[in-house]
Amino acid sequence: MLRALLLAPPGAGKGTQGELLAKERGVPHLATGDMLRRHVAEGTDIGKRAQTYMEQGELVPDEIVNQLVGQAVAGDEPLEGFVLDGFPRTLEQAKAAYDYGLANNRTFNAVVSLVVPEKELVRRMLARGEAHGRTDDTEETVHRRQLVYEESTKPLVEFYRDRGILIEVDGVGTVDEVADRIRTAIDALAPQG
Ligand code: ADP
Repeated sequence: MLRALLLAPPGAGKGTQGELLAKERGVPHLATGDMLRRHVAEGTDIGKRAQTYMEQGELVPDEIVNQLVGQAVAGDEPLEGFVLDGFPRTLEQAKAAYDYGLANNRTFNAVVSLVVPEKELVRRMLARGEAHGRTDDTEETVHRRQLVYEESTKPLVEFYRDRGILIEVDGVGTVDEVADRIRTAIDALAPQG
């Protein structure tokens, strides 16, 4: 059963590729950004606490995000497989996920790091902001989010490399080309079935 994480800077295509991969392997796709945006749209307590961080391109506090993902993954019926997209994003989140995985026999079996040059990322995000009206895809916030990624999330690449489950995939190309690369790498690390 696939338990994968997509680890990539904003604009690299986590959402698109995460959805494809999850569908192909028959596991749920859990995107923390989407979950948080739903909470904001519905005006829940979590949404109210998360909104300002998101609009400014800052990370939502670990405690809120850990709770949100915990409910989705370890709720009444703990998930056996999943593709996580956008979580973990800090070392503290990664440690919480690892502790849960060890205790419940559900550690990740593959972590896909999508590699895309920063210039291309910024170009894609600004285009996306215009097309979809995402309020955090503005010029100022886009740069802040890249910096936050470098500072808080990039250290996770080494964390997972040390655990032998890191897959680095070139994220430049068409959606199909990138999906093919991910499929090939994952099949080698986490065979179907
Ligand atoms: P992107 O990767 O383009 O930034 P996401 O949809 O993954 O888009 O995330 C949007 C925003 O949601 C982030 O900038 C952050 O504020 C918040 N967020 C999502 N996932 C997390 C997380 N794991 N920890 C903290 N904040 C998060």
